[in-house]
Amino acid sequence: MPNNTSSITFANLNLAEPIMRAINDAGYTQPTPVQAQAIPLVLAGGDLLAGAQTGTGKTAGFTLPVLHLLNAKPAVNPRTGSPRCLILTPTRELAAQVEESVQTYGKYLPLKSLVMFGGVNINPQIKSLRERVDILVATPGRLLDHVGQKTLDLSSVEILILDEADRMLDMGFIRDIRKIIAALPKKRQNLLFSATFSEEIKTLSDGLLNNPGFVEVARRNTTSELVSQSVHMVAQKLKSHLLSHLIQHNGWKQVLVFTRTKHGANRLAEKLNADGIAAAAIHGNKSQSARTKALAQFKEGSMPVLVATDIAARGLDIDMLPHVVNFELPNVPEDYVHRIGRTGRAGSSGSAISLVDSEELQHLKDIERLIKTQIPRVTIDSFVPPTHIPAEAPRPPRPQHGQKRHSNTTAGNRPPRESSAPPRAHNPNGPRKNPQRQQGQPRPERTGQSPTKPRTTQQPLLSEAARHQAMPQPALFSPRPNVRRGK
Ligand code: AMP
Repeated sequence: MPNNTSSITFANLNLAEPIMRAINDAGYTQPTPVQAQAIPLVLAGGDLLAGAQTGTGKTAGFTLPVLHLLNAKPAVNPRTGSPRCLILTPTRELAAQVEESVQTYGKYLPLKSLVMFGGVNINPQIKSLRERVDILVATPGRLLDHVGQKTLDLSSVEILILDEADRMLDMGFIRDIRKIIAALPKKRQNLLFSATFSEEIKTLSDGLLNNPGFVEVARRNTTSELVSQSVHMVAQKLKSHLLSHLIQHNGWKQVLVFTRTKHGANRLAEKLNADGIAAAAIHGNKSQSARTKALAQFKEGSMPVLVATDIAARGLDIDMLPHVVNFELPNVPEDYVHRIGRTGRAGSSGSAISLVDSEELQHLKDIERLIKTQIPRVTIDSFVPPTHIPAEAPRPPRPQHGQKRHSNTTAGNRPPRESSAPPRAHNPNGPRKNPQRQQGQPRPERTGQSPTKPRTTQQPLLSEAARHQAMPQPALFSPRPNVRRGK
């Protein structure tokens, strides 16, 4: 495998002409590194272990060669409801997006695709399975429902793809995956894509893959200079005020805001709406149509703010976002890299702003250690916090670093939905005593300076504790229709 993939063109990859035409229609001029490395290996028929995350072009990395292979060797006796390629994804959203890619790249081929996931009526899916399906994209739980009901026949599967395998394990899908693998024909090609390689992933890949080829592409944005990162030190209770201020005064048109919990996402969206900023939270408690609508409005630019948890945002294919805001820092430092990877894509610059309170300092340090960068602390001179802020309910402690957000499976092997955690005690030290001003404290307006231009400060990190808001936990997200047939 070439180390330098920058000279490889799509023409070098020997993909069928109808696929090349679709690639051309998509406007791609050159394969991304993961595509340049993975496509030849998949076309050669071998198993593959690939380290790549969303944003690297991984979806086309497996979809393009799979389309080529299936097209080159048509099914001898195609049966209804019996796919030749099975793609498993952790979330409904990712399933929908992957199937959309299958349609995009396969639009000039006579292959049929289908997407299905849980949380929606199963009957339309059963109906679709009465027809021919070449490529099935599914989440594990619903797939097993169909296997159990014998509405899906897995005996024709020639190619299995696990997309975002690490996230599937995080979400407690390992038993489901093992059951699905056991129901597949022994002789097949296996492709495993994962953003990270934990011991669990190694165990899974050792059992699944046969002498696999290996490709790994750098985590996005670990060194990207296209993303301008900054940290605003601000008390938790002032964060929503500061965020409204940033959006309104800077005239931001498209901002993806990350919160740690679905309730936090809801509350923040409501607060922004109350401030006259159109915003929606996305999570599994919302109806399918509400989520699809919110995402569509956000993408087309009619709703400037989308508030999401890490799980909800996983797999969201929203390119070239100008602004990403971490309303709270993630527990897992790698998630920070993933979050800010939403901006500064494809050569465009973007900003990633983190609102950090004193209790998040350890998370901030861990993130900075991971990215080997000190993120500049900035203050917004024009921000004058409200003088009266209603008392907030106390919140529970944050999980420690490395603590899994999803560690249990629930009945029926569904991905666990986290519930609200119990409240925690208020800070026994009481209000802040340190006289040093920080973000979120009033400061006199300066003249001769842009009211919204962030100013980098050399002031040390906060040492004061503050009281915080209630902090329940994240949930799953899965917009888009419950079933869609390609062709
Ligand atoms: P993925 O990592 O699969 O989620 O892809 C991220 C984005 O990259 C998607 O919006 C794709 O449409 C886009 N993309 C994939 N391959 C290429 C390519 N070779 N050139 C330009 N954009 C691409």
